[in-house]
Amino acid sequence: MPRAYAPELAESPAGPGRSAPEVVVLGSAGGPTPKAARRPVSHALVIDGEVTLVDCGNGVAGQYVAAGLDLGRLRRILISHHHIDHVADVATLVHLAWSQLEDPVAVIGPPPLRRIFDLHYEAFATDIESRMQDEGRPHLREFVQITEIDCDSALEHSGARITAALVEHPPLRAFAYRIDQGGASICFSGDTRPSTALAALAQDADLLVHETTYLANAADFLPAARAAQVLARMRAVHSDPAGAAWIASAAGVGALLLSPVGAFGPVADEEILDEATASFSGPAWVGSDLLRVPLPIRGDI
Ligand SMILES: [Zn+2]
Repeated sequence: MPRAYAPELAESPAGPGRSAPEVVVLGSAGGPTPKAARRPVSHALVIDGEVTLVDCGNGVAGQYVAAGLDLGRLRRILISHHHIDHVADVATLVHLAWSQLEDPVAVIGPPPLRRIFDLHYEAFATDIESRMQDEGRPHLREFVQITEIDCDSALEHSGARITAALVEHPPLRAFAYRIDQGGASICFSGDTRPSTALAALAQDADLLVHETTYLANAADFLPAARAAQVLARMRAVHSDPAGAAWIASAAGVGALLLSPVGAFGPVADEEILDEATASFSGPAWVGSDLLRVPLPIRGDI
């Protein structure tokens, strides 16, 4: 049995009525500096056409539509932490989806989520007020339900059980999320160094989406005087492919998606997979924008 699978891009978009559960990579770039080949971090969990987003990097609205996802089926947004590559467009996305929404979107994550939205309403009052007049829409805030969390948490939302666990991404408070919905269990790491709290959260999940930073060739692309310091810093806050795979193995997950991906220089997906599959024997993918990963469901949907 092959241990790594080549990425597949689906021909048909997800949409209302599509029942195959999947994770769609909307943005697979780790780190704040814009990349030519990858957009900033965002992943969509799609179950029966209903969408849960984990993180909202810059440009997520365009990627959401490019993936064929229905803005009207956006149910919830989970924010892992407040680095800009994970959260830049969280309010902008809901604003841009506003005219398509019938129900409020649940937005869950650490503070200052509420302040981000309040400042957005203030900064973009001109557009909000004009569209309320022109289109007769209730205020944008009526379509946003914010839950701020600052510790390990579990909550239910519209048929989904969402469990959040603090992971290790100092100095920020960063959360990993597990979503149990429709018989599927999916865990998203956010940014973290290899975390035993994450391994516990992800226990027996169908799929773990784990960040990774490829460090094996980093010294070739760093100034010699700073290389050791930068590498030590990276290992303190991120996970290399072997570290992510070790967590996947410890958790006993069914499959591993390594995304987002950070690197200091060019690296082939095969090199990342080789490092990961040395300690994880299940199906594994390296994230790329608009990659669709079907969920290997063990229960009924
Ligand atoms: Zn981060």
